[in-house]
Order: sequence, then structure tokens, then C-alpha cells
Amino acid sequence: MFTMKGEWANDAPPQLMILSGAGLSAESGIRTFRDAGGLWEGHDIDTVCNFDNWRDNLELVHGFYQARREAAAKADPNPAHDAVARWQTRWPTHILTQNVDDLLERAGCTDVCHLHGRLQDMRCYDCDYEWEHGLGPWTVDQDACPDCGSTRGVKPGVVFFGEMAPEYRTLQRAMDSLRPRDVLLVVGTSGQVLPVARMGLEAPGPTILNNLEPSDVIPDRCFDHTLYRPAGEAVAEVEALLARYLD
Ligand SMILES: [Zn+2]
Repeated sequence: MFTMKGEWANDAPPQLMILSGAGLSAESGIRTFRDAGGLWEGHDIDTVCNFDNWRDNLELVHGFYQARREAAAKADPNPAHDAVARWQTRWPTHILTQNVDDLLERAGCTDVCHLHGRLQDMRCYDCDYEWEHGLGPWTVDQDACPDCGSTRGVKPGVVFFGEMAPEYRTLQRAMDSLRPRDVLLVVGTSGQVLPVARMGLEAPGPTILNNLEPSDVIPDRCFDHTLYRPAGEAVAEVEALLARYLD
């Protein structure tokens, strides 16, 4: 679980805050369904991960996340995940991601804050119990909550559309604690869900944006450095910038 550490004290050495999104895992073959026309096997993505009606679509919901877990289990970390793990051992680093896969952890990262939950978790909404189910299958009406035995009250532990994202408080705390010597690095994040442009403007220290391509949602002027290429290909250049500010 992500914790805020005392290293954020004013006299602490410069630190790195990394916010990553789908672009980080794209080179590992993890798809985003927004890019795929918002469809999964003909079903609107809003139907299979919508907090307002997930109980009505339970088989579809679990079928969709079953496929997501299988895809994640088959994927491997790419050079960008490896780089984040390396940077975490080199500098005091706080990692926050919108990704629900575990590729950062499998690359060796620790203490990752998953803003939108994790694929391997389940939560029972009949009793509020949460647990790590792993990447294996889940069968509706057979598998049950280990605490209360509910079968149809269990939802994947990923934050759905229309659902509260409790870890956004952690993101806000991390942003608030940035000092002028700390670096904010944003990787593979469209800015459609989180206010990335504003974060770039409000961060008091150096800011780096590495996205696949420019976007109207995140004007270049919001970041000190903008690198538009796949995350895996930008690693060396990003690392050189980080060394300049953090060593
Ligand atoms: Zn339960």
C-alpha cells in the first residue's frame, strides 16, 4: 500500500514523483478500450465497467475483467517499467499510476499507488470486504466472498465509471507536498481523466511530460520538457533529465 513518507520533509533531498497511465503499458500489449472504439466483443465499455449498473451486468462485468486479467498475466514489463524501477532505487521516488495491471511491480517497483485499483483485487459490496484474488479466473455464482459468502455482491477491485476513487486523495497529497527541487514526471497519460495540464502548471519544480503525441488537452506550455514518443523509446532522454535535476 502506498504511504507518504517522512522523506517529504523540507530538508530532504530532491525527489521524483511519477504519474503514469495507459501509455506506459501500451508497449507491453495492454490495450485501452477507449482507443478501440470503446467496444469489447461488441459490448459498450460503459456497460462492463459502470458503477451504476454492474450488478445487472454481472456476467459481462466479470467476463470483461477475466479477459483483462488473462491479458495482464501474459504481458511482460517493457523497458519503461524497468526504468521506473531503476529510478526508484536511484532517487527517492513516489509512483502513482492509473494502470490496473501489475507490470510496475513485476519490473521491481514497490509501494505503487494504483489510483484506479488493481486487476487482481476483488471487493464485496454486500459486506465491504476486499481481498487479493490474483490474476486467475472468477466464476459468477460459484466463486464467493471469503468473508460473507456472497456470490453476486462481488465486484472487481478496479474503479468503475461513476465510482469514487479514494486514492485521488493520495494524488492530491503528493501534489501538495512537491517542493521547488522535486521533479514531476508524467508518462503515457491522456489528460482526459486527471487534470494533467493543471498538475504541470501547479508543480513548483521541474516538470516532464512523455506522451505518444501532443494533445489539445495538455498544451506544451504546461510542462518544462515535453517528449512525444513511446515511453520505452524515451527512457534514455528522460533519465538524463532526471539526473540533471536529482543527482
Ligand atoms: Zn462479502
